[in-house]
Amino acid sequence: MTPTSVHIDAAWPAQPGRRRWLVRGLALASGWSAVGRAEAPLGLVRVPPLVPRVRILRNGLQVVVLPDARAPGQPGSGTAAVQVWYRVGGKDDPPGRSGFAHLFEHLMFKRTRHLADEAFDRLTEDVGGDSNAFTTEDATVFHNAVPANHVERLLWAEAERMAHLQVTLAQLRSERAVVEAEFRQKVLGEPYGRLFHGMAPAFWQVHPYRHPVIGRVEELNAASLDDVRRFQARYYRPDNATLIVAGDVEADQVDVWVDRHFGGLVVPDVPVPRVSVREPRRTQDQWTTLTAPQVPAPAVALLWQAPGAGHADAGALRVAAALLGEGDSSRLSAELVERTPLAQSIGFAADLHGDAGMLSAWAIAAGPPVLGPDALHDPRLPRLEAALLQTVRRLAEGRIPIGELDKVRTHLLTEALVARQTAEGRALALGWAVVRRQDARMADAELAQLQAVRAEDVQRVLRVHVLAAHRLTLRYVQAPAGSRARP
Ligand SMILES: [Zn+2]
Repeated sequence: MTPTSVHIDAAWPAQPGRRRWLVRGLALASGWSAVGRAEAPLGLVRVPPLVPRVRILRNGLQVVVLPDARAPGQPGSGTAAVQVWYRVGGKDDPPGRSGFAHLFEHLMFKRTRHLADEAFDRLTEDVGGDSNAFTTEDATVFHNAVPANHVERLLWAEAERMAHLQVTLAQLRSERAVVEAEFRQKVLGEPYGRLFHGMAPAFWQVHPYRHPVIGRVEELNAASLDDVRRFQARYYRPDNATLIVAGDVEADQVDVWVDRHFGGLVVPDVPVPRVSVREPRRTQDQWTTLTAPQVPAPAVALLWQAPGAGHADAGALRVAAALLGEGDSSRLSAELVERTPLAQSIGFAADLHGDAGMLSAWAIAAGPPVLGPDALHDPRLPRLEAALLQTVRRLAEGRIPIGELDKVRTHLLTEALVARQTAEGRALALGWAVVRRQDARMADAELAQLQAVRAEDVQRVLRVHVLAAHRLTLRYVQAPAGSRARP
């Protein structure tokens, strides 16, 4: 593998406090705040709606087309996004093959009947665009940005790899090595990589969200060519995918191209397998300790159960997470890093997946490591735990100044609007609406929900999902000398 053919993706977020819905670096542009401000009711921004055309082909492929909105006579942007969202993710990894969906994402850049290895880079980068992919718990997403006159070619290529991928053993081996390197870099090579990697397996009791998306090295090594073929037949098929085309295109023209290249793809007789496991409610508080060979300072994470991304509380939970953990002026940063200072870094994440979610509050202690058997009894650990809880409780029960709430809502909205300035960002917004709410037309509802969140909503969701719920506490310390930490 040459470095240029390694697909760096978001299978495992390098940083906690992560927001998967904003996937790529998007250039900050000025002027967003002018959007509809004049007509909007007090404190609300009127968001230009995304109104896609949605249809389903006879073979089950869902097609979402969103041409740029522009005034007659105005020149187009000349760019377009072509994305394929497959409804398969880490939760669908076969038993004993954790990380397989992510490994398969890499394999999708290999040879097909009519395309050479890594041809997607040639079809996109060589004409000034780009192509990449990422895997989440629920979905695997292939995204291309190209000049608009290359859209049909990309549609042909996406249909080609959906139907005619031809993986060899040599390619499987080489991509396994790439994924293993990714694992070493993002999990083993980071001092807190094992903490964030270890959260899902410790937290989920039965749901397959417990398998980390990036996988485990020994399970990836066990993957065979048969596994690849089975997985491909099971999940990579038109009736398990949503094709999204956005940008400087004509909807009718896109329909013709889509029918031409995807219309003839066949669907297997067997239905797509779906995860039906339901996570039971946690009935008691639990504690567990994770270790690693090099932990510069111990850390604590508190984890609570949360509803899925489509739940009515999702907007308030996202605002609560940002109030607590986003930026230097967030509650946890102000209290644990600036005022006391107990911690060198903090975070709060609402990871809301399709079926259910996890809330996490974490803090890395200030000061040096404590080594040896004393590491487990480091007095900073209970102090951090108490301070995390206390700060959440104060937000849930105290006063939330309107300025503080407004700052956070505006920040979340700004990120979403900035992302929507490109065809790729608009296509991603539609794709997330499909994953979270099974409907591309719900992308705007999500922003409306965010804007409508009030202080009492934040407090109610924290009372229900955090204060009144049982939690799992993770302590993360350096392994005693001579012991072997599990990767
Ligand atoms: Zn990867």
